[in-house]
Amino acid sequence: MYSAGWYFRLSRFFREKFGEKVYKVPLDAGFTCPNRDGKVSQTGCIYCYNPSFSPAAIAQEESSHQISVREQISNYQRRLEQKNAYRRPGKLSGIQSESKSQSNFVPQHKYLAYFQSYSNTYAPVPYLRQIYEKALYTPGVIGLSVATRPDCLDEEVLVLLGDYAAHYHIWLELGVQSAHDRTLRFINRGHDFECFAKAVREAYKYGLYTCTHIINGLPGEGYEDMIQTVRYLNELPLQGIKFHQLQVIKGTPLEKLYDEGKIEILSRDDYLRIVCDQLEVLRPDIVVQRLIGEVYSNEWLIAPRWEEFRGTFAQAVEKELQRRGTHQGIIH
Ligand code: SF4
Repeated sequence: MYSAGWYFRLSRFFREKFGEKVYKVPLDAGFTCPNRDGKVSQTGCIYCYNPSFSPAAIAQEESSHQISVREQISNYQRRLEQKNAYRRPGKLSGIQSESKSQSNFVPQHKYLAYFQSYSNTYAPVPYLRQIYEKALYTPGVIGLSVATRPDCLDEEVLVLLGDYAAHYHIWLELGVQSAHDRTLRFINRGHDFECFAKAVREAYKYGLYTCTHIINGLPGEGYEDMIQTVRYLNELPLQGIKFHQLQVIKGTPLEKLYDEGKIEILSRDDYLRIVCDQLEVLRPDIVVQRLIGEVYSNEWLIAPRWEEFRGTFAQAVEKELQRRGTHQGIIH
């Protein structure tokens, strides 16, 4: 096997940097998005129903009150460490007694507070500071991962995050989905590729790690377009990437196009082949944070219905790269 693995996994990145696994805690801090509230548009990206891919957003929707950032983090830590303790019987008693007394709970793992839902820099900086610091000062938290849009990153926000980066581990997650402006217009992203590229370059100057999100199978895109997107991304000072398949979620503008027969969905085999081809092209130092998109409730998902495929996709990718005798970045 290629000594570094078939592709550069996030778990390896964390192990090399911190000597152990780091958990990302998905959070919903009550932000909205300028592509929904009317500042950029009111319709949003054509595929977007945010709670479908954000467990924290679902929890907020189902709760009778706004769950604070600190509460979300502590709840997640407690659940996870309890679950891990059950897997290691020798450690169970300590966690059980801690869980009885919530105030005495001391997390044993390292965590990144992942501000996931909507655009998490879309608010005045004093408010952002307050929210981020609630997370950073929660025991066990070693940094942030802040998902946002490239047009929501002005200098003041970058200075704030850059200051944190001197002491904490700070990621930005910037969706772009495609490097092709005609596609970005079609999916109503509300910004072009250059806006994204500029944001990545600026974030780098402030010492931030940037992970981007791309979607394969977007309307009007062929194989070469998807490969080209990765080639364009390679040129930017990016440190991470998440791959997704186009998913049709109930109630989105994409659903209407799908019902009218105006869009096609990739087959499993094509998605696997494209991701493997993209990995071969992807710069070897870019960390792969995700290989396939998920939904947190299948009742929202219209197509593709890949429930079983999703769980085994990482192995399928490794098997395919092994069969080819290739690995990430081999033809970069
Ligand atoms: S930018 Fe993100 S949250 Fe806003 S509409 Fe697009 S996908 Fe949804």
